[in-house]
Amino acid sequence: MDNVNVVVVRDLRKTYGGRTVVDGLDLDVGAGEIVGLIGANGAGKTTTVECIQGLRRPDAGTLRVFGLDPVNEGERLRCLVGSQLQSSGLPDRLRVGEALHLFAGRHDDDLLEEFGLSDRRRSAFGSLSGGERQRLFLVLALVNRPRLVILDELTQGLDPSARRSVWAAIDQLRAEGTAVLLVTHELEDAERLCDRVVAMRAGRVLDAGSPAELVDRHGAWATMRFSMPAGAMGAVTPECLRRLPGVGEVSWDGAKVILRGERAAIAHVCAALVSADWVPPDLSVQVPSLEDALVDLLERTSADDTPATDYVVHLETIGANR
Ligand code: ATP
Repeated sequence: MDNVNVVVVRDLRKTYGGRTVVDGLDLDVGAGEIVGLIGANGAGKTTTVECIQGLRRPDAGTLRVFGLDPVNEGERLRCLVGSQLQSSGLPDRLRVGEALHLFAGRHDDDLLEEFGLSDRRRSAFGSLSGGERQRLFLVLALVNRPRLVILDELTQGLDPSARRSVWAAIDQLRAEGTAVLLVTHELEDAERLCDRVVAMRAGRVLDAGSPAELVDRHGAWATMRFSMPAGAMGAVTPECLRRLPGVGEVSWDGAKVILRGERAAIAHVCAALVSADWVPPDLSVQVPSLEDALVDLLERTSADDTPATDYVVHLETIGANR
């Protein structure tokens, strides 16, 4: 299945009651590729994956999953695609083992074990904690060994250890050649897992690339911190630091210098320090995370109907809740 175009979306448009919520979207997912769809609330992510799942009929554009039309050939795709259910997806009284039978017609002890649910086999769905439900939805999405897995808010509600085992399971899917389409607000998940991230707003793609490419394009700044005792200053005065190429702000916190600028400034600052014979023992360099970079992207890009600040506030809320 290598190099197969698992999902191909071209110029997808979807309108609800005359309001366009997906507006000319292109998206590709290859075999063994993990692609993350990220964007503000209402950006059109769920609508896009619902079209890919054949749950919604696009108003325009082409959409193929394993070369098939998900709306008209959905039956043939059923055994190839696994989707994560939303929390209202199962009746409270259904037991974990029964849910597996319902979805796959069999138990899968390995998957239950892998997701830490072996001893919950006889438990009713309604008695599971939020994190256990989330893990069960993952087991159900994977139980038929699909070739494409569509996951929505993969690690929501998981404790740090469960989150790591879910990451490991997704890495394993990639190694087996399974394609994964991930809708998420958790940019740490996207940064850790995705080969490619597609940033959406108002139904359109703002930018797409690997997490590292997006960080390079939209988070090109860095913050450096290092101690600078008065005796060590020599030729490296604050004015001299400010004049170095790419350096933006220079501030002092006691004997510590905090310097912000373009990433290229790192090399110039280090060179200036070394030539002044001062090698700070505590030099640290902080470069933007994917979240920092995408907040920057969304702050800089204006849209008529979705103010960028909505997304910034949303990301800050997520950060606070993490
Ligand atoms: P979130 O991050 O909040 O889940 P999203 O990016 O997944 O958002 P969608 O759920 O695709 O966004 O919604 C896109 C827009 O379409 C929203 O403004 C939403 O209110 C609207 N919408 C979604 N489903 C329907 C529907 N069935 N009828 C009318 N409008 C809808």
